[in-house]
Amino acid sequence: MARCESLDGSPGRYWHRLDDGRIQCDLCPRYCRLREGQRGLCFVRARRDDRMVLTTYGRSSGFYIDPIEKKPLNHFLPGTPVLSFGTAGCNLTCKFCQNWDISKAREFDRLTDRASPQAIAEAAAASGCRSVAYTYNDPVIFLEYAVDVAEACRARGIRNVAVTAGYICEAPRVEFYRHMDAANVDLKAFTEGFYKKLCSSALAPVLETLEYLKHETDVWFEITTLLIPGENDSPRELAALSEWVMDRLGPDVPLHFTAFHPDWRMLDKAPTPPETLLTAQRIARDVGLHYVYTGNIHHESTQSTYCHGCGARLVGRDWYEITAWNLREDGRCRDCGATCAGVFDGAAGHWGRRRAPVSVGTRRLI
Ligand code: SF4
Repeated sequence: MARCESLDGSPGRYWHRLDDGRIQCDLCPRYCRLREGQRGLCFVRARRDDRMVLTTYGRSSGFYIDPIEKKPLNHFLPGTPVLSFGTAGCNLTCKFCQNWDISKAREFDRLTDRASPQAIAEAAAASGCRSVAYTYNDPVIFLEYAVDVAEACRARGIRNVAVTAGYICEAPRVEFYRHMDAANVDLKAFTEGFYKKLCSSALAPVLETLEYLKHETDVWFEITTLLIPGENDSPRELAALSEWVMDRLGPDVPLHFTAFHPDWRMLDKAPTPPETLLTAQRIARDVGLHYVYTGNIHHESTQSTYCHGCGARLVGRDWYEITAWNLREDGRCRDCGATCAGVFDGAAGHWGRRRAPVSVGTRRLI
């Protein structure tokens, strides 16, 4: 465990004392055991004055308005802008991390923005965002801050979106998702070996989170799997993953296969060939999944949504931009009337593919 020299923390939940004098964090299945002054693996939760604290409460690495499709969520208020932010740290150690400058941050000087939950909710409303996304790094590790922001947002009619690896314990899972309206969950692979070797974590808790979301909540969720050549892209593994989604979650949970690019501690792998993504999409469709997408490549036809009833194109997408819309106000196909799964509210938004920085709260000079 890393030692923390000086901390400015807010009380953290989900921990207990051990007989040997340490305290154990029960937020995620790592169960870090801390002595006074130590930080957990996520780096943002720490023991201070004999209690657990969250050291990043109210601090952010910056705020941006993104298209909701970028989370990625293709079936949740399509075309609308989402106010997005993250903090620092992560509870996984993925060698291929695509956001490593934030998730691996050990320098809190990166957290230049200070924002209260009310300030974030007000900024979202003022900028016309329909939702706020807890993203860039995993919000599980800053649960207390995310929950407070989510409550402030709901009070203003703003919805909440989590972008997460789903690596969380049972009790905090219930609290966290009670405050969320939508989620994109990374299913990084479909073998325990991958999770252990490349993320120092485990697959089983992630699958539990997915089943929990499906069977015990009303949270709209989609799944993303980053395909890494030679690591998780064999047709056999993709078939097993797709069959599990079909059997346990049903045909209407969207599945995004996205392209890897060399990053962080995995610079020796080539980017994912587009053919691999197309093969994965075909495999998942063949097992019966209705909504399977490719991501991180420019391929409009495989980023669009098709009606499971008649095959008509329902929503056309070019990267994050809506290019065609064939849904009724209630989310049904205009051609055959079949329901498209998701959360729809009238016509598509017009945010397009823009990304815009937003000033929220106060900014520190560094
Ligand atoms: S949330 Fe952080 S401190 Fe708690 S168990 Fe997970 S990695 Fe450790």
